Amino acid sequence: MALLQISEPGQSPVPHQFKRAIGIDLGTTNSLVAAVANKGGADNGIAKVINDTEGRAILPSVVNYAASGAQYVGYEAQAIAADDPFNTLASFKRLMGRGLNDVSDTSQFQIVTPNDALTDTADKNDVIRIATAAGEVTATQASAEILKCLTARAADALGGAIEGAVITVPAYFDDAQRQATKDAATIAGLNVLRLINEPTAAAVAYGLDKADDRYIVVYDLGGGTFDVSILQLSEGVFEVLSTGGNSALGGDDFDLAIVQWALSQANISAEQLSAQEYRRLLIDARAAKESLTDNDSVTVSIQSSSVTWAGELTKVGFDALIDALVTATIAACKASLNDADLTAGEIADVVLVGGSTRVPLVREQVTALFQQAPKTDVDPDQVVALGAAIQANSLIGNSRDSDLLLLDVIPLSLGIETMGGLVEKIIHRNTSIPSTRAQEFTTYKDGQTALAVHVVQGERDLVSDCRSLARFELRGIPPMVAGAARIEVVFNVDADGILDVSAKETITGVSAHVQVKPSYGLEESEIAQMLKASYSHASEDRDARMLAEQRVEAEGLVDAVNMALAQDGHLLNDVERADIDAAIAAVLAIVGQSDTQAISDAVAALGRVTDTFATRRMDQSVRAALQGKNIEDVADGSL
Ligand code: ADP
Ligand code: MG
Repeated sequence: MALLQISEPGQSPVPHQFKRAIGIDLGTTNSLVAAVANKGGADNGIAKVINDTEGRAILPSVVNYAASGAQYVGYEAQAIAADDPFNTLASFKRLMGRGLNDVSDTSQFQIVTPNDALTDTADKNDVIRIATAAGEVTATQASAEILKCLTARAADALGGAIEGAVITVPAYFDDAQRQATKDAATIAGLNVLRLINEPTAAAVAYGLDKADDRYIVVYDLGGGTFDVSILQLSEGVFEVLSTGGNSALGGDDFDLAIVQWALSQANISAEQLSAQEYRRLLIDARAAKESLTDNDSVTVSIQSSSVTWAGELTKVGFDALIDALVTATIAACKASLNDADLTAGEIADVVLVGGSTRVPLVREQVTALFQQAPKTDVDPDQVVALGAAIQANSLIGNSRDSDLLLLDVIPLSLGIETMGGLVEKIIHRNTSIPSTRAQEFTTYKDGQTALAVHVVQGERDLVSDCRSLARFELRGIPPMVAGAARIEVVFNVDADGILDVSAKETITGVSAHVQVKPSYGLEESEIAQMLKASYSHASEDRDARMLAEQRVEAEGLVDAVNMALAQDGHLLNDVERADIDAAIAAVLAIVGQSDTQAISDAVAALGRVTDTFATRRMDQSVRAALQGKNIEDVADGSL
């Protein structure tokens, strides 16, 4: 009965024509765009970051909204920021897909805007709007400006319109945040081939998808955020085992540490500086920090209307200023290892991402924790964009490397509820996406004209132990005997992890469908919890499944016998009838209890006493069928 069909979606066509596809790292502080060069060209299939006309790879993720209605993006916006802080948006990635309800403390955002500009319109769940001289804008719109700018840069460099892009998002981004990122791409007129996780992109840039099965740590210390992800690579598929970090810890804090040091050395307070002067000191502090990566000391200075100060900061002095911050990232790595049930020694590769991983103290502490030198060959600023470009090139069909399509997996099995409150898994956990699976089901009762489809997620056998995702009904099934209808249920999970379930009665073609978003609805910890439960309850679940199946069989048999008695009761004598009635009563008496064996015995007994009855009914129906029919009609199976 249960026919399982597997179709292969997302197959890329054989490449015949090179298509322009780009990878975009849409970062909190900085964004980049990269592409794989056309085969045959000098760079022959190698991913490279695309620079702006001034030779800069990085586009600061900053947008200035001027009163004139003009928008300045990147370095231009950064240059205006000191003079026009209120209309200059930075770090807006933190607000993507977020309402005021989600963010308790908006002051943590370095959005340069007056506090009252975070207007609270009708609903707290509304997307956060920021007041600017050019009107209210959202993080999604600002992100769209960054995407537009990078896409235009790429189109210029590649000599034509961009046909598709892979955009990276943090591994912990939930569905709303991913959707907001897609919306930004839509506003920018960009065709999104797929959103992929930043750590996965970094691992791909190092070619780790081609490596043997292993555990990989991606340590990403950017400007304002620290993310650590533990990936499991198995047969070319990456699974995120755990994520951790601190959304308010990054290179900006190193800058602040230098600012505070300078202020205390100069013996002044921050309030003595104007907003512009303070901002200038911040920019100087950042330059000083970056310089200390390659130099042993640097001069930091403060210039204001009231004070002029200059002092030397040594590398040793800087290390002392940031030691506690770096130690906090190491603690987060340990917590993530713990979440993934791994020890530092089990990690095969450590990949560094983010400009702040250039800081020597960071590298030293990471090396000490994992007892191995981290991977640093690929520029930590560019590694995510490069991995995204490799993905984009593959997804658009320029590469024959179809393995690369298998990047993300379904974290928990997806299935539907069948009779007895049991789960029939249709797509199993760890199946790579995109994926489509179809399975045929049938009706349980004679004349059944509707089917309730209940979509669930989880590893357990009983619906009550899984998570309910959606319910819908298929109506208009023509009345048929139980088991005759053919209802094809198709589960399709697209590349972004969005599930679409449809059910179709194949004889009449009536269909119904529902879209659900399962993959990102659960926290990693919830997924881990559900998996643990499925292991620890395995034998309990097996017993529950057997009981439920036995009950379904018992009730089905009683229904069928009652139906037959109503139609053909006259074929029985009184003693036979009494035996059957007693056997039915015995089944009904025990079916509600939890003794699987007793139900099974009662069902077997009912089967035995109805044997002769069944044979007589068969004979009768064969005789009826044969009347007035020739032998061909019988031979073609139309009985
Ligand atoms: P994000 O992912 O948040 O967009 P990035 O990965 O681009 O951020 O990292 C930006 C941070 O990296 C900034 O704090 C910047 O000062 C820091 N950074 C860049 N180059 C260096 C360097 N040579 N030494 C130390 N820090 C650096
Ligand atoms: Mg980054």
